[in-house]
This record gives sequence, C-alpha cells and structure tokens, in this order.
Amino acid sequence: MNLNSWLQTTPARILLGPTPQRARHVLLVLATTQLYLVNLGIIWHSDHLGVLPAGIAWHLTWTGLLTLAVVFFLVRSGWSRRYADPVLTLPHALIAIALSFSAYVQVGEHRASVLILVAETIVMCMFRLRPTQMLVLGLTSVLMLLLSVIGLTWADPIRYPSSTGLMHFVIGGSTLLILSLVAKWVTDIRTRIGQQAKELSQALSTLQHMATQDTLTGLMNRRVMTDLAEAELKLVDRNGHPLTVALIDLDHFKQINDHHGHPAGDAVLSGFAAHALSQLRQVDKVARWGGEEFLVMMPQVQVSEALAGIERLRQSTESLRFAGYPRVRATFSAGMAQARPGETLEQLVDRADQALYEAKQAGRNRCCLAATADERPAPNTSPVHAHDLSAETGGAA
Ligand code: GH3
Ligand code: MG
Ligand code: MG
Repeated sequence: MNLNSWLQTTPARILLGPTPQRARHVLLVLATTQLYLVNLGIIWHSDHLGVLPAGIAWHLTWTGLLTLAVVFFLVRSGWSRRYADPVLTLPHALIAIALSFSAYVQVGEHRASVLILVAETIVMCMFRLRPTQMLVLGLTSVLMLLLSVIGLTWADPIRYPSSTGLMHFVIGGSTLLILSLVAKWVTDIRTRIGQQAKELSQALSTLQHMATQDTLTGLMNRRVMTDLAEAELKLVDRNGHPLTVALIDLDHFKQINDHHGHPAGDAVLSGFAAHALSQLRQVDKVARWGGEEFLVMMPQVQVSEALAGIERLRQSTESLRFAGYPRVRATFSAGMAQARPGETLEQLVDRADQALYEAKQAGRNRCCLAATADERPAPNTSPVHAHDLSAETGGAA
C-alpha cells in the first residue's frame, strides 16, 4: 500500500486529518518530532551529567512538547488552512530555533550538538519556505547565536570568556550563514522550477485549447469533430443507431465581408455559432468545418427530426441579430445526410455536401436532404424547403 492510499484509510483519517492533503501537512509537522526528541536527548543527558540547573530539563521538555502539540493541533484541525503555508513552517521553525538556543545556553559542553539541530531545522525548511523567508530564518538563527554567546559571556565570564564566545560565534555563525545562503539558493531554484512548471502547464492547456477549438467561434474544430464523428459512425455500424450530419454554409457570406467589413463577418460567424449551440440539442455536436461552413452531427435521432431541428435553426437564423452590427442579416443553406451502414465519414460528408450544393442551386436559405437508400444517387436529393428567397442576399441590411 503506498502513502496516498494509506492516507485514505480510517486510522490515517482519524490521526492525520479528513483529507489526504491535510494528512500530508500533518505528516510534515510530525517529521519535526525527531528534532525535538534529539534536542530532549541532549537536554536530559546534560541533566544526567549535572550540567543543567535544577528543573531546567523539565521546563525545556514541556515547552518543546507543548510547541509541537500546538502546531500539530493548528494544522490537524484545519485552522492553519487560512495561511499560504498551512504547515506553518516559518513560525514553527523560528520557535523551534528559539527553543534550541534556550537549550544552547544551558547545556554546557553539548552546545555544538544543539547547533547541528539548528542547522538541520534550516535544511528541513528549504523544501517549504520561499527564498526571502529562508533568509529571515538564517539571519534570525545567526542573531540568536550572537545573543546567546553574549549572554553566556556576560553571565559567566570566567568559564565562558569573550574569546571563546567570539570563536563560537565566528564558527557557528558563519556555518549557519553559509548554510542559510545555500538553502536560499536551493529555494530560489525550487521556486523557479515551480514557476516554470506552472507556465509550462498553462502553455500546454493553451495549446490543447488551440488544437481542439476554433478561436473565433469557440466551437470544436474540424479535427476534433472528425474524431468524434468517426467514433459515432462506428456505433452506427455496431448498434444501428441513426446518425445524421448537416453541412451548413452561410449564404453570400462574401458579401457580408464586402459590404460591412471583415469584423462584421467575424461577428456573424461567432453570433451564428452561439445561436446554433443554443438552438440545437445538447447531444448534437457543432463544429466549424471551414471558413463559413459548419458541420452538425446529430446522433440517435431519426432523420425527419434532425431535419426539423436544422429547419428550425434556419428559420430562427433569419431574424438573428449580431452584436455591434444591427443591420446585418444572415441566412444559411444546409445539406443533410443520414449515415449508411459501413459508410466512411468522408463519404457521408460528401453526400451532405452534394445536398448543400442542391440547396444553393435551388436558391439558398433552405435545407436539402441527401437520398438515404444506397442505390439512389446523390443528385436525386430533393429540396425539403424550396421557397425562393433568392432576393435575400444574406449580406443585405
Ligand atoms: P455562397 O452563398 O455560395 O456560399 O457564397 P459565399 O459568399 O458565402 O461563399 P464564398 O465561398 O464565395 O465566400 C466565403 C467567404 O468567407 C470568403 C472568405 O473570405 C470568407 N471567410 C472565410 N473565413 C472567414 C473568417 O474567419 N472571417 C470572415 N470575416 N470571413 C471569412
Ligand atoms: Mg462556403
Ligand atoms: Mg457561403
């Protein structure tokens, strides 16, 4: 069982928190337990040797355990979620280092071990803190060492002369300083890599977006529709579900561009796309097939219903208004074809295209259905809607 699946188990939920993310945060807090334990080991060993003043070992023990318990509670309860770092790394590390230095001034000969624990705290933090926080932590550690050394020299100049203090500060302080600078450098690299990973994933999603969607209309592009329709055609073969496609071409679209400008043409394309999406069923898929051509895929519907749907769309498009161009009107012609068993997408769209040609020839602003029976050739397509609207130019306002 890996960590992720263990975090979902009931004992893990009870101990570490209701969600895997919270549990991971609590685990990071618990990982610091070993630092506290080693620190306590040093304290109690010094107590055993009689170095510590009476009661100090208990005092340091309770303060350390209380700090760990409070941080555990704040993270485990979810209270710390309000902060950018819910593990509370910086405040926890600052308190832990302050506790370490309060042990440092007490434990006599074992001081050097405490400094190693401070260094370990800095190393553990470099995987969570930001670069400036890392610097704050490092400089605070050096400052605390300085204060500790001054305090020791001041309190007992005989056993701890200023020359010893200075030596301790130079060695310990420079070690902590260099360690902090290295930790900041690592944190810098970590932050930069994180930022680059974020930018890469944003670029990837933009690319995916561009690869699947038409930028002007927001509709799926021809490539995605081709994949979808080919998959749907397989279902037609396997289950015998009906499938109809409609190839829609805006009428006299060139005139809209010529009379009203290219931006008006763009507004018509995106306005029509939004209108088609709102008028058709959710299961019907609409794609921008080419310049001013759209392909509608209508699965699991009898051809008569599909035809009625496109006919409704055609009629409502006649009165459609386009944002910013109130005088522009548009109509479309549509060629429709119902998939035959074993037919490829290319063949199906080809038949719809021939029906579209019929619709254009018959005067535009109408829907034509390609013959469904195998033996009937496409030219026998019959205009379903044949009223003559040739006076409407599509672009005329
Ligand atoms: P028909 O009724 O026979 O379809 O005539 P039409 O004018 O609609 O067809 P034609 O193929 O002559 O012209 C299509 C025009 O669509 C030409 C092209 O400049 C324009 N077009 C293609 N893509 C875009 C686009 O993204 N934006 C704009 N504004 N125009 C486009
Ligand atoms: Mg065209
Ligand atoms: Mg056209």
